[in-house]
Amino acid sequence: MTHIYTRRILMFCTDRRIRYMISKGGSEALLRTLVDAARAASPDYDVLRPLFRLLAKVGLRDKKFGQKALELEALDVTLILARKNLSHSQNLLHCLWALRVFSSSVTTGAMLGINGAMELLFKVITPYTQKRTRIIRAATEVLAALLKSSNRRAVNRGYVASLLRLHQDWHRHDTANTYVPIRRALLLCLKHVANLRSGREAFLVAQGMEVLFSTTQNCLDDQSLEPIISIVVQILRQCYPKSPLPLVTASSAYTFPVPGSIPSEPLCVLTEEDFEDDADEEVDKDSDSEEVKEQDDDLETDVNKLSSKPGLDRPEEELMQYEAMCPELSCSFEELKSQPGDDLNFEETHYANHHHIPTVASPQWHGLNKDQHSGKQGREDMVQTSLLSRVKVGRSTMHPASKKGPGMNPYPNMQSNGLGIDSSGKEIPDLQAFLKQDTWDIDVISCPMMSASLSNSAWPRETAEVIDKLLQAHPKHIPFHDPCLYMAKARRTKSVADFKTMAFPDLWGHHPPPHAQSMLERKRGVQRIKIFEDVRRLIEPADIINKVVFSLDEPWPLQDTASECLRFYSKFESGNLRKAIQVRELEYDLLVNADVNSSQHQQWFYFGVSGMRAAVLYRFNIINCEKPNSQFNYGMQPTLYSVREALLGRPTWIRMGYEICYYKNHYRQRTTVTGGASEKHFYTLTFVVKFPHNEDACYLAYHYPYTYAALTTHLDILEKSVNPKQVYFRQEVLCQTLGGNSCPLVTITAMPKSNSAEHLEQFRQRPYQVITARVHPGESNASWVMKGALEFLVSNDPVARLLRENFIFKIIPMLNPDGVINGNHRCSLKGEDLNRQWLSPNAYLQPTIYHAKGLLYYLRSIGRSPRVFCDFHGHSQKKNVFVYGCSIKETLWQAESAVGTSTVLEDVSYRTLPKILDKLAPAFTMSSCSFLVEKSRASTARVVVWREMGVSRSYTMESSYCGCNQGPYQGLQFGSSELEEMGAMFCLSLLILELKSVSCSHQLLNSAATLLNADEGALDHHLQR
Ligand SMILES: [Zn+2]
Repeated sequence: MTHIYTRRILMFCTDRRIRYMISKGGSEALLRTLVDAARAASPDYDVLRPLFRLLAKVGLRDKKFGQKALELEALDVTLILARKNLSHSQNLLHCLWALRVFSSSVTTGAMLGINGAMELLFKVITPYTQKRTRIIRAATEVLAALLKSSNRRAVNRGYVASLLRLHQDWHRHDTANTYVPIRRALLLCLKHVANLRSGREAFLVAQGMEVLFSTTQNCLDDQSLEPIISIVVQILRQCYPKSPLPLVTASSAYTFPVPGSIPSEPLCVLTEEDFEDDADEEVDKDSDSEEVKEQDDDLETDVNKLSSKPGLDRPEEELMQYEAMCPELSCSFEELKSQPGDDLNFEETHYANHHHIPTVASPQWHGLNKDQHSGKQGREDMVQTSLLSRVKVGRSTMHPASKKGPGMNPYPNMQSNGLGIDSSGKEIPDLQAFLKQDTWDIDVISCPMMSASLSNSAWPRETAEVIDKLLQAHPKHIPFHDPCLYMAKARRTKSVADFKTMAFPDLWGHHPPPHAQSMLERKRGVQRIKIFEDVRRLIEPADIINKVVFSLDEPWPLQDTASECLRFYSKFESGNLRKAIQVRELEYDLLVNADVNSSQHQQWFYFGVSGMRAAVLYRFNIINCEKPNSQFNYGMQPTLYSVREALLGRPTWIRMGYEICYYKNHYRQRTTVTGGASEKHFYTLTFVVKFPHNEDACYLAYHYPYTYAALTTHLDILEKSVNPKQVYFRQEVLCQTLGGNSCPLVTITAMPKSNSAEHLEQFRQRPYQVITARVHPGESNASWVMKGALEFLVSNDPVARLLRENFIFKIIPMLNPDGVINGNHRCSLKGEDLNRQWLSPNAYLQPTIYHAKGLLYYLRSIGRSPRVFCDFHGHSQKKNVFVYGCSIKETLWQAESAVGTSTVLEDVSYRTLPKILDKLAPAFTMSSCSFLVEKSRASTARVVVWREMGVSRSYTMESSYCGCNQGPYQGLQFGSSELEEMGAMFCLSLLILELKSVSCSHQLLNSAATLLNADEGALDHHLQR
């Protein structure tokens, strides 16, 4: 009776019917039937077999099946039946199918383990045989499920070596790959074993690394073996012996004595530790899911903390000091008296502010100084089409430099020998000779001294002369840059390590490449290949060199210049290489320095390298990265600058590097945190570089570097570039930093038309806009956006003129100069994230934040809080450009707070600016914007300015380090031009925002209408309020 019923179900059971059956207690009924049938004096296998098949089917769909089976004692009876039928294949197979579903839950798996199932299964699968493969498959699969919970038992019984032997036997005999599921199940068993420290030890003793490595070497490209290889890689990574980083201490090589404070972090000494990481060993996925999950429990739900709280963190009288930083509010402009209206006739050709957002794509701009000064009208037309014409289309002539394979030459126009053609395509036949004849040491050129008088250093005295000669020999006009001025600025920059040299790219300057570069297409399985190469260090150590070739901790020379290996240097502004180890002939492990006074935040890197051979593939591994994921896994490349290329007329940072991936490595570090010790993991960024020239000096960086000396040089040139009768451009010093550097504050607006009371009144009543950047030193992209904004604001673009005439811009372009100078990624010299100090900054310890906040307090106290506050940042996990703003309602709603959002009043205008940017800026996307207020961000500029200053439009603007996955720049990595354009677009959006506001003056509306209509109505629809 039962078996007819069972067969009928088996024949007709659809997924839906089974689920229905389960919901009606079908599982329990079947399990009871099984127990009854199995306990009969002589069990009827004609009943039991179909019953087992049905159980296997139902069990797959019933999440609580294991538990039910356990409670109804079906586990025991099945195990007993299996034992009885060891030699009866059909019956045994059916029992195993049932056991497979029973063991899918951890509790039942553990119970089966205790009841001897493991021993039984081992009896079934050993020794290796290709008879009864269906049974062996079922048995290995049950075993794999059991070992999830019974792995300790398996280790104790010594099964690790047996599992490895079985793996080898199957691998050897299964040449046609017929039994992949069996091999996979055996590997899963090993993987579960490897979750235990004792399991890993047993695995290593049994030569597991060697066995798995050698069995997979010649089948890495075999698609059908994918399920096997992926598990092998996981096991190898997990069992790779853990070790501390090859550093004497995890703390930064640089320490800075902060007055009146003890180091914020205890000294971390790296020792050989007992690494027990059984619990949380997750597996890195070689996948494309880059979305980072936001945590809702971080959202602020306390309405008091979300409401505006105008307050003051200091005595009110202190605010008066900021009056001096706003001289525009008191200046009487006596000098304007003599020549009213003169500005209209002013001959502008003295000033170099014609270009903004430099782009090679529009070379006519750069030729402007020389060729097109004749007619003012001509220039006006050209400028008029500059920014507005690029709205949402970006650099119009821009096209990616095609999809390059790893072997392709990254430098367009470059001959195979790399020499002989300059950027304009002109041949320079004697260049090679020219470079040779003076026998200049490329290392000397590439790392010039700041001062020629420092004779006792490793560098020859004549460096400065060499650079002078080079500058004369290679005049290269890079807009808004001047090497001589840079040198002077660098000399005055104070660094903790007292840098005496400059990096050539910063000194010489950077010119954006003619084309944007596509994101790097990730080769399938590249991470796997790299991991196998890493494992090979253990298994085939014959070619391992392991020689330290550079170290900040061992300041004596580590290599003679004649040696074959690469030479590294990093003792210059923003440089932060700590140690370089030659691992194999063409492979180097690199460690970057932790932030000063800290033992963490390694992500940014910038170093020089020389002594290379051209067209050879060098592998670099930065082995002490900290973030768990990186855009390097999703198309981003590091940047490279070649000194020889620069001397050939292409002074350009380009995206470079192939076979890039970013993955967790075997280095660990004990960290003591309150309540016990925890373990820190590290990640490797690996990439391969093919250098363009022999014996070149090249620089490699995380992103286009932008130093403090570059900023101060830039500001001086900007100031000189403007027509002082039209553009009000002032540099003030916001404060001195801990490291003794000046933090610049820039004010940009239009000069008053005259010093008449009316004009002065208009001038002084202009609303403020406040922009800050680079609080995080590793986010050099923020500086390029800022550079674009600054150049645009002083330019002749009619939009820029309107902006100047209607606003006063207060700009702090670098909130953390010390961090930038000393090669930090995140922190100040005190080892603190300055963007977590806005709630109560200290005048001595966080001076730039204290005074930036003070300036904002002052503006508020005179009723002049900015229309918009924005802090520019860089984002390492996401693509595109986007903003974070603040909204009470959106935060409460997202947090599903009990507080009725209907009772909260909120001005929704915080969304307007990003909406405008979404329409204007090619790189910007609204879809990544967020307006949630997180508890962890309570002390950031954005939240504090919003809450304490009552600035509803307070933003963080994040620019990807990588590039865009939408809009006109989709699929492209950011070049410096696109970042600069973003800065200009941000300024344009401030104008459109004003036009949309109810308080916008008629006069501005009229002038804007003329301007925008002149641009073929492209922007008309933005004007609709
Ligand atoms: Zn940041």
